[in-house]
Amino acid sequence: MQINSDFEFHIKLVIIGDSGVGKTNFIFRFTDGHFSPLHVTTVGFDYKSKIIKLNSSKKRVKLQIWDTAGQERYMAINKNIFQKVQGIIIMYDLTKRSTFENLDRWFNLVTQNASNKPKILVANKLDLAEGKRIVTEEEGQKVAKEYDIPFYEGSGSSGDNVDEIFNKMAEMVYKNLIDEKDNIQTNTKLNTKQEKKKCCK
Ligand code: GDP
Ligand code: MG
Repeated sequence: MQINSDFEFHIKLVIIGDSGVGKTNFIFRFTDGHFSPLHVTTVGFDYKSKIIKLNSSKKRVKLQIWDTAGQERYMAINKNIFQKVQGIIIMYDLTKRSTFENLDRWFNLVTQNASNKPKILVANKLDLAEGKRIVTEEEGQKVAKEYDIPFYEGSGSSGDNVDEIFNKMAEMVYKNLIDEKDNIQTNTKLNTKQEKKKCCK
């Protein structure tokens, strides 16, 4: 966590999921407000940033969103990313069942490398739902419930739910950071008490 005059917190996130589900465009839509109909694997960026204001605390938070830039093709994600980030968005494409079926593998990867970090499940390409939907909303909800995480359907193309998803993620990470800080403070207080007890018995 960094303190800066423009913002009070720095939160790092990553979006994972099969190649082609729309991760890169989803990040672009959020940070730059646009969408490219072309597959943007060639653009190549490590991460993009945007400052937002949390609804709950009115704190200004700088979100740094990491892209997996093609590494997801063979699920060959550099595992260091999971140590770096504080929140993870797991995405599938509601018009392509294989991307939904591969969720278990993505969740396994997350469980192995970042088990207790906040997560959100996102079904992308909601703009194509009418006519091209293959995975129902209920199916997505069921998986999210199994893992006990929030679920959204959205679209990097139309922008539906994009801000909502990043806001929700930021709120979850922020709450986690505050809880951790409280725990550290409580533990320090307890330790000091114990020290005192030890010292003055
Ligand atoms: P990535 O491999 O997960 O990073 O996916 P990309 O962002 O490169 O997108 C893959 C393809 O899906 C591109 O052709 C995009 O134009 C298309 N795409 C991405 N998001 C959406 C969406 O929300 N709606 C529609 N209709 N197409 C999308
Ligand atoms: Mg990409």
